[in-house]
Amino acid sequence: LSAEAQDVLDEIDAKNVDFLRLQFTDILGTVKNVSITADQAEKAFTEGIYFDGSSIDGFVRIQESDMRLDPDPSTFAVLPWRNSDESAAARLICDVINTSTGEPFEGDPRGILKDAIDRANDLGYEVNVAPEPEFFLFEEDEDGRATTTTNDVGGYFDLAPKDLASDVRRDIIFGLEDMGFDIEASHHEVAEGQHEINFTYDDALSTADNVATFRSVVRAIAAEHDLHATFMPKPIPKINGSGMHTHISLFTEGGENAFHDGDDEFDLSETAKQFLAGVLEHAPAITAITNPTVNSYKRLVPGYEAPVYVAWSDRNRSALIRKPAARVPAASRIEARFPDPSCNPYLAFAALLHAGLEGVEKGLDSPDPVRENIYEFDEQKREEYGIDTLPENLGQALDALEDDDVVLDALGPHTGEKFLEAKRQEHKEYLVDVSQWELDRYLETF
Ligand code: GLU
Ligand code: MG
Ligand code: MG
Repeated sequence: LSAEAQDVLDEIDAKNVDFLRLQFTDILGTVKNVSITADQAEKAFTEGIYFDGSSIDGFVRIQESDMRLDPDPSTFAVLPWRNSDESAAARLICDVINTSTGEPFEGDPRGILKDAIDRANDLGYEVNVAPEPEFFLFEEDEDGRATTTTNDVGGYFDLAPKDLASDVRRDIIFGLEDMGFDIEASHHEVAEGQHEINFTYDDALSTADNVATFRSVVRAIAAEHDLHATFMPKPIPKINGSGMHTHISLFTEGGENAFHDGDDEFDLSETAKQFLAGVLEHAPAITAITNPTVNSYKRLVPGYEAPVYVAWSDRNRSALIRKPAARVPAASRIEARFPDPSCNPYLAFAALLHAGLEGVEKGLDSPDPVRENIYEFDEQKREEYGIDTLPENLGQALDALEDDDVVLDALGPHTGEKFLEAKRQEHKEYLVDVSQWELDRYLETF
């Protein structure tokens, strides 16, 4: 038993933890749990916990269904909403091992991100990532189902001068902090009922673990207030959708920010620009992973602070990548503005990393930043500037992914195939559906 695992066992004792949720995510980013009693914790650390992977969507073929979960002791956290003095539950995030080979399972998103981080490490870099997930808080109806009525609009008409939303947000933040999250800031977003919580940057793996956990924590605590928290990218048409801007920087092993160069006009090093160029070059394929739902593409339209065009800027929010102002050299970074919170964070970070590192390895030249509002460009001006557009829908994004070996390789053959299959199916179901918009537009016209 490692010293770290022993510490966890001691904590389990001290905090009266009865149940452990062993957590991992499937390819689509859904968090899966296998629950064990606390007295199995030692065995989980020494031998792993065996489970049948064939019951998990898109995970494995039936004949190779034996999987093992190896809990990572550094991810131990007591669940704040299942915590009392007598009895508590905790979670541990796990790596998934294929028992027939003894190797990391190639369909485990966490393992896929670890491979991407290894590529950075081989080039001498550590990877820092900080996400800015946005979400809406909606009221529930009498049956407890989510509506799209925002609670702060309700609050606005209330006689009690109380900001309902900030109460909930505070509880959410306390809950996250109890679980070891380092929260940098939180604020009400542009749209009514929309919120954002920013994490302090951390290594890419810890950040992906945090995002995976974040969504369930936010939903659970919102539910205690009879509210539904949604990470759906565009729940309400014609107002801002929810993004998950992702800030990235590479640090050298000596702790220097490899993205910073004080002599550069934008404080960005050559490495940062090469990385940025790699992300821009592969952006259409990356969107299939960072923006993986039909609904994601309803957010990526002009006019709502979400990107549509493949360009970068040091000031403009219409660009795909922004260089935020940095007060200290350690904070020089790039902000990818296209990801949304419906993505699988492990796969999204892996795709961004591989594309960026490809740019670094190949020494790609970055284009000049675009400082005007690209939403206002016409096609001719976009052509003049050489600005491409992002895929307009999930189908186009999947086409781009199929044609992009760098991004497909980021997923590996197993996950690449399963991901494309599942998402093609999702898009096909959408295409044959008849929406309310069509009924409103055509039913009485024709
Ligand atoms: N909600 C916007 C989006 O869809 C972003 C607003 C902001 O700049 O934080 O990406
Ligand atoms: Mg925001
Ligand atoms: Mg941002």
